[in-house]
Amino acid sequence: MGMFLCEECGKAEVVDVIPRRGKICFGCHIKGIRLGFAHGKEDFHGPTIKERQDLQVAQAKSAGINAEPVGNRWV
Ligand SMILES: [Zn+2]
Repeated sequence: MGMFLCEECGKAEVVDVIPRRGKICFGCHIKGIRLGFAHGKEDFHGPTIKERQDLQVAQAKSAGINAEPVGNRWV
């Protein structure tokens, strides 16, 4: 067991080992994740996975590659 003072809020955090993330208490760590999530949420407004797949197929076709599954081509 050990403890450290959180570098973010100064709270004493009791831990088994100092987290790899640094001397950040769990509360501040979670806040950081939420902050990262808020910053990263623009991804959800971007193309969906399906749209990205369609785009890849379109790009492949424009590059002269038939991106359809091989199994469907020769039946
Ligand atoms: Zn903290």
